Amino acid sequence: MTSFPHLFEPLDLGFTTLRNRVVMGSMHTGLEDRAWDTTKLAAYFAERAKGGVGLIITGGYAPNRTGWLLPFAAKLTSRNEAYRHRRITRAVHDAGGKIAIQILHAGRYSYMPGSVSASSIKAPINPLRPRALSGRGVERTIDDYARCAALAKFAGYDGCEIMGGEGYFINQFLAPRTNKRTDKWGGSPENRRRLAVEIVRRTRAAVGPEFIIVFRLSMAELVEDGQTFDEIVALAQELEAAGANILNTDIGWHEARVPTIVTSVPRAAFVEFTAKIAQRVNIPVCASNRINMPEVAEEILTRGDAQLVSLARPLLTDPEWANKAAGDRVDEINTCIACNQACLDHAFSRKTVSCLLNPRAGHETELVLLPTRRTKRVAVVGAGPAGLSAAVNLAERGHRVDLFEADDKIGGQFDIARRIPGKEEFSESIRYYQRMLEITGVHVHLGKRVSAQELLAGGYDDIVLATGVRPRIPDIPGIDHPMVLSYAELVRDGRPVGKRVAVIGAGGIGYDVSEFLTVEGHPTLKLDEWKEEWGVTSDDEQVRGQLTTLKPAPAAREVVLLQRKSTPFGKDLGKTSGWVHRAALKAKGVEHVGDVNYERIDDSGLHISFGEKRARPQLIPVDNVIVCAGQESVRDLEEPLRAAGVAIHLIGGAELAAELDAKRAIDQGTRLAARL
Ligand code: FAD
Ligand code: NAP
Ligand code: SF4
Repeated sequence: MTSFPHLFEPLDLGFTTLRNRVVMGSMHTGLEDRAWDTTKLAAYFAERAKGGVGLIITGGYAPNRTGWLLPFAAKLTSRNEAYRHRRITRAVHDAGGKIAIQILHAGRYSYMPGSVSASSIKAPINPLRPRALSGRGVERTIDDYARCAALAKFAGYDGCEIMGGEGYFINQFLAPRTNKRTDKWGGSPENRRRLAVEIVRRTRAAVGPEFIIVFRLSMAELVEDGQTFDEIVALAQELEAAGANILNTDIGWHEARVPTIVTSVPRAAFVEFTAKIAQRVNIPVCASNRINMPEVAEEILTRGDAQLVSLARPLLTDPEWANKAAGDRVDEINTCIACNQACLDHAFSRKTVSCLLNPRAGHETELVLLPTRRTKRVAVVGAGPAGLSAAVNLAERGHRVDLFEADDKIGGQFDIARRIPGKEEFSESIRYYQRMLEITGVHVHLGKRVSAQELLAGGYDDIVLATGVRPRIPDIPGIDHPMVLSYAELVRDGRPVGKRVAVIGAGGIGYDVSEFLTVEGHPTLKLDEWKEEWGVTSDDEQVRGQLTTLKPAPAAREVVLLQRKSTPFGKDLGKTSGWVHRAALKAKGVEHVGDVNYERIDDSGLHISFGEKRARPQLIPVDNVIVCAGQESVRDLEEPLRAAGVAIHLIGGAELAAELDAKRAIDQGTRLAARL
């Protein structure tokens, strides 16, 4: 018996049965684009199928060259290509899974000259202007979708997903924002929907009745002049009539300025839209976005808000998610924290998609953690992300591991990060590591600032220094004034601050600290409050794009964020999440002051001047100054241990403080563990 009976109830589609309600949502990994990566892709999918997923959906494959997202991106247009896919479908079927291919035409989101769309309207996130597809072009494109699906069937896929959301090609025909046509493919809502419906109809005719057709549609487009919810419901009903078996849902166009998947979006935030669709169609509907734990999924299914749940990034983080949930091993799930750092940020910089918390994702054939042939005694110093990943993976391979942590709890800087409003998910990582330490039998020594002598006396074969970083204290006159606090003293130790605060340093931590300061009491936003902050409405089905006026709660205090450089603020924040942090601070009225010199701090506040000439000296009258000026490595143990000639390994912040993030820390810990 599982605690999640709805999640693990099979779904009978008439001609085929899915073993449970867990769908792996489409993610473009980058491996799809290169024929020579097919073996890696097959291993990546097979691991998730083995992990118990009911239905896997691949990354997007274009039905023709004009549909390419990037030059030479993935497409499925010939039998030769289809033969190659058999390696993927066989691997998934051998592992007991089912797999559908996603057919994705980028339309005006294509980064290729010669792209096409409903009308010649440039996307705000793409410098290239598409041309409006001719009537004949539309007909040919519909046939390309149908042919692509038929080739997928030939390749052994169980079905296909037609991507009709997120502002891609089909969505560009659906919304008045991008469809200004006056022929039968534009104008009235029925005409705008014609392309989507015709694609499903002709695809069904091409593949026959025994092939899953999933259609993915935007529940809420979150852009001006998007479809109304009424129109989306009508679309769902027409797609059902045209032969779709499942409706998968997504939220927001890529150009939308409402966050839909980052950490600060509440779990299952958009499921109410899905529920409204599910009530008005007779085919299964799949919920998506920020569903990362089984209890969230089970609740959605129990309420009948959807019949399936789609998890994408959570299955990068933990390929065994479904099996662990089915076996009531929820505390063993490595939970996606929605940071985007190694998945979406990689996708947008053309790197292979992986996961900050699971560097094996996308690298299953290269980063292999085999049982060790010779058990070693290893000391790991520091239980931050680097030390935790090293310790757990070393022990899992069969080494005997002692983990020393100076603090009375594990987590390192993650224990600070989890206290930032909107980063509560980071607590899940600490819970996961806590459990894995128990399961793998790591000997954990908390509250133990271990010395070099103690380590030497331990007689270890290897010593891993994962001692991390300490906040940098900049050389500013008055830096030891009682009004000055480090970010750790503010966030971790809960030291009180006044109503006007200056933040020195506008890196990732400066931004997080500024958000922390603007919210009193640091509560997790309730869904309604979050919707008000970002201007999302689900009450009015006639509103285009489901957008309304932003009503951010007033800031708890005045915050001034400062940096020495004159470049734009927040330039180095995450590619796909940085804009959310910038928008959040703007909404709270945080003042940004760049190109500054910090002259001194005294009872009256922070004194600054500007530029090389130290011009325009001025006082910022504040109650407190919070220092977020980067970090320095903690490596006091290195010298004495090296001098004694023992084998030491430096990872994470201990190795290098510059440009440190948890992605590097965990990657280094895991790769070291695979090597030793
Ligand atoms: P640390 O986390 O610093 O851990 C080192 C550990 O070693 C500490 O627990 C320390 O007590 C222990 N230690 C030191 N010396 C000894 C000794 N002699 N004996 C025993 N124990 C010792 N990163 C991201 O990637 N994404 C984010 O969104 C993000 N947000 C952040 C938000 C905030 C507010 C903060 C503060 C950090 C954030 N980070 C983020 C950064 C991330 O947490 C760090 O990059 C990561 O924790 C570094 O890992 P580490 O293991 O190298 O070091
Ligand atoms: P950071 O990004 O390097 O920023 C530190 C800031 O301090 C710099 O912007 C720098 O700006 C300023 N600074 C450096 N030396 C200074 C000095 N001597 N005096 C005054 N100011 C100084 O580091 P961080 O903010 O501490 O973050 C640490 C790591 O955690 C980052 O690498 C980041 O990746 C990670 N992190 C990520 C996120 C995320 O959301 N992805 C969030 C938090 C943290 P100026 O030189 O212009 O003043
Ligand atoms: Fe989730 Fe972050 Fe991993 Fe992406 S990188 S899958 S968002 S934890």
